[in-house]
Amino acid sequence: MDIGKKIAEIKNMLPDGVKLVAVSKTKPAETILDAYNSGHKLFGENKVQELVRKYEELPTDIEWHFIGHLQSNKVKYIAPFVAMIHGVDSVKLLEIINREAKKNHRVIPCLLQFHIALETSKFGFSIDEALEIFESGAIDNLHHIRLAGVMGMATYTEDMEMVRSEFRSLKSIFDRLKERFFANDPEFKEISMGMSDDFLLAIPEGSTLIRIGSKIFGLR
Ligand SMILES: *Cc1c(COP(=O)(O)O)cnc(C)c1O
Repeated sequence: MDIGKKIAEIKNMLPDGVKLVAVSKTKPAETILDAYNSGHKLFGENKVQELVRKYEELPTDIEWHFIGHLQSNKVKYIAPFVAMIHGVDSVKLLEIINREAKKNHRVIPCLLQFHIALETSKFGFSIDEALEIFESGAIDNLHHIRLAGVMGMATYTEDMEMVRSEFRSLKSIFDRLKERFFANDPEFKEISMGMSDDFLLAIPEGSTLIRIGSKIFGLR
């Protein structure tokens, strides 16, 4: 299987401005290196230990995105190098990322995760919670995080109309936040949505970051 070819095939489907996060979780470093050698440098991982191990083994110019559910006591391990944290779902976590970023003299881009799916198991804020956080000023003094946009996961279903409407709801959340709180902030621009089975629906709904694992690397 030619990983580079798979990545090129997917990239050819993406309009300008949509980036591919190659989700390499569970895959060995050699496989990631194949992808890297084909010219791809943006990878996503969802486990802290696995990410740290791969970061240490692989070329330093890889851009690592953390895409999983991040426990606050593990932020310190990825803070020195992580390029973006998708899926931040609490103020407490933002505060801890801020603290650890500061220790490393960094500013870490973060995406707020929103709960757009039916399943209760998926994490994330509601729009009302987010509005309250911004209005309260609770995170105004966190200068070592940069809010770069939003992230969401659609329901795992065959019902593509449902998936489409969930993506649409994330886009509308992004638009509301952008208009009210980030109108003058060009860095608040990312909408992370779409995976192997649904990225072709996510793109027309406004995705800027698609997170693709199995369609590149095969089944896990
Ligand atoms: C595993 C994972 C993906 C990639 O899933 P595929 O269906 O293999 O493309 C995307 N986003 C998150 C948050 C994941 O955990």
